[in-house]
Order: sequence, then structure tokens, then C-alpha cells
Amino acid sequence: MDAPYILIGYAFALTLVFLGFGVIRRSMPELRGVRRLSLFVLCGVAAAFLLAARNHVPALLSVVAANMLLLFGPLFFYAAAAEILGVRPGGIRWLTALSLAGTGFLYWFGIVHPNARMRLLTHGAVIGAIFTAAALLQFHDRDASPKAAVRGSAWLAAGMAVLQFAWAGYPWALRVQLSLLHPGVVDTAFSYLATLLALAAVGALVWLSLCVQRMELQRAAQTDSLTGLLNRGAFETILRRELQRSHRSGASLAVMLIDLDYFKQINDSFGHAVGDSALRRISAALSASIRPSDVLARYGGEEFVILLRESGVVDAHAAAERIRCDIQRLEDLPEGVTLTASIGVAVNLPGESPDELILRADEALYRSKREGRNLVTLYRSPRQDKVASA
Ligand code: GH3
Ligand code: MG
Ligand code: MG
Repeated sequence: MDAPYILIGYAFALTLVFLGFGVIRRSMPELRGVRRLSLFVLCGVAAAFLLAARNHVPALLSVVAANMLLLFGPLFFYAAAAEILGVRPGGIRWLTALSLAGTGFLYWFGIVHPNARMRLLTHGAVIGAIFTAAALLQFHDRDASPKAAVRGSAWLAAGMAVLQFAWAGYPWALRVQLSLLHPGVVDTAFSYLATLLALAAVGALVWLSLCVQRMELQRAAQTDSLTGLLNRGAFETILRRELQRSHRSGASLAVMLIDLDYFKQINDSFGHAVGDSALRRISAALSASIRPSDVLARYGGEEFVILLRESGVVDAHAAAERIRCDIQRLEDLPEGVTLTASIGVAVNLPGESPDELILRADEALYRSKREGRNLVTLYRSPRQDKVASA
């Protein structure tokens, strides 16, 4: 089949995809990477129309401008992948220079010294390199991005790169002659596959962007905005799960409630902003004080909670004492203030619900308050007392 007919088909198909992107951008303007992906598709649309109109427009337009669009378009794909993953598009300058050099080569081998093999080689090398960079960027994503979505998208970009290199190399390996105006079955199949793979890779990036957005929303819903710690809701979910696990395994766990003493006075004396910054500093200190297996959250205003996995009364009491001392010793609080904390600790009983465990920690905390503050109180049930004295 003649190339212009094939290209017109691509151009219309890509136009539909581009229009689809318009709908996505309008309905979800905050979705990352979509603007760049739609620019990638737009480059494909414009290139396909220009190449299809080869016989009706000046060669400079159909050869140079169209190929420039084909070589620069994938840079938008690469930049979109980086934007979605929230990383820097490393080496984008080199890739841009490569696209520019490729355009020069295509001008040379398209107009000055026509050579179809060299044109194909230039195409494949440049586009293949950019998709390789996009695949590596995603394979190297160390963040907690949704793993399956990143992997799938990375493999599609890698597949596109391999296809481009294979397309560029096969005329050399098989010593076949190429006709760009009347492509054979192999070239038609390559161009067909390349278009499909490019669209699949674009679709995978949109999917990845949705997954990343969903993950960030979930994370935000679990995070306290002032301190960056887990919030109460997220803590309670973890506590419920850990209690079920400990009921199955028989291992004990402890909950520690920490309430800063006379915190209202800091706000009253220095203002809310100083209070906020003290809360942030205390949060950082608590994060540094706990073990990696412990779970720390902001439970409410100036109250924090810590879940200590696999801790009995002795361990939990020691940890609470250490934390109480750490807070008391903090010297770099704003306005040079010092703070103390009252702490209540409870170790779980078999079959106990999260609410019951927290209630006991709360009762212990209020005993610390009543008995003068800057204290640790361990809630002991008669059964635990028996175990401790045995
Ligand atoms: P106590 O020793 O009895 O715990 O005294 P307290 O002053 O710490 O307790 P109280 O419950 O009377 O006051 C808690 C204070 O914590 C009042 C509130 O303004 C302050 N607070 C709660 N959340 C925030 C916050 O996000 N930022 C600031 N700056 N202050 C907060
Ligand atoms: Mg309080
Ligand atoms: Mg308080």
C-alpha cells in the first residue's frame, strides 16, 4: 500500500487520541504529565499529516519539519514520565541535542543525499535512545510509586526502544533495499507496531499518573499536615491490624500516649506560630527516639501516640522513660522554651479491642497528669501485675 494512505490512517487515529487527551485535561487538569503526553501525540498527528502530504507540500516541510516533529515529540514523552514520577528528566539536554543532530542528518539524507537506510537509522537511533531513557527513568524509580504500574509502563517504553533499534538495524542486517514511498510488508508492520506501542506506552503513563495521584491522595489522607506524622485515623487502622496480628501470634504490644504539659501557655505567651514550630520540633525528636518498628502518630492537638511492637511492660516503660527524658532535655525549641510531657502506657491484653487499649493508656496518662506531670504511668491490670511479679 502507498505510504500516504497508511499515514493518513495514523494521522486520523492519533487525532482521535489527541481529542481524548483534551477531555482528560479538561476533566482532570491536576493530573500530572497529561499536557506533555498530549503534546507528544500532537507531534505525531502533525508529522503524519505532513508526511502524508509529501507530494503536495515543499520537501522542507514534509521531510525536515515532519521528521523534526517525530524526533522531538518523544522528548515530551520522556519529560511526562519524569513529571509523573516527580523526578528530574536527567540528560534531557543531551537528548534534545541528539534530536537536533538527528534532524540535521535527516535533512542531509532526505534532501541533499537521499538515502533511505540512513534516514531510518537516524530515526531509530534517536527515538530509540529517548525511549530507552524513559524506560531507565522508570526502572530506576526508587520511590514508593505504585510498583506494578511503573514496571508495566517501563517495559512498554523499553519495548518501543527495542522496536526502534530493530527497525533501524534490519535493512543493514538483511541487506534489503528500502522504499519510503512504497514501503514493503516489513516496514508497514514496523510502523504499525511502533504506533501501537507508542500509544500503549502513552496509555500506561496516563494510568501511572492516575495511580501516583491516588497514592498521593491516600498518603495525604493519612498524614498530619503540620508535623508530617501519621494522623489519628491512620494510626487506628494500623493499631487494629497489629492487634489482630498479636492476638494470633501471642506477642504483646504497647501503646504510649504522650501529652505535652502546659502547652497552652506557649501559645498564650509566644503565639500560635511558635506553638506550631514547637510541635514540629517535638515531632522530629519523637521520630528520632523511636525504633524503626514503632509507629508514631499525632493523636490530636499536642498529643502523640506510639505503638510499640513486640513490647511487654518492662520494655514499654523503659521506652516511655527514655522519651520523657528526651523531650525534657530538648534545648533547641523556639524562643528557648523547655517542655515536658506526661505519658501513659498500656500493654495489650488478650482479645482486647483498640479502643479499650487506648482507653487504658489514656487513663494512665491522666494519672501522670494528676500526679504532677512530667511522669510516666504504666496501666497495669491485675493479670499483668501477676506476670510482672512472677
Ligand atoms: P496540660 O498539662 O493539662 O496538658 O496542659 P495543656 O495546656 O497542654 O493542655 P490543654 O488541653 O489545656 O491545652 C492544649 C493546648 O494545645 C491548647 C491548644 O491551643 C494547643 N494546641 C493544640 N493543637 C495545636 C496546634 O496545632 N498548634 C498550636 N500552636 N497549638 C495547639
Ligand atoms: Mg491535651
Ligand atoms: Mg497538654
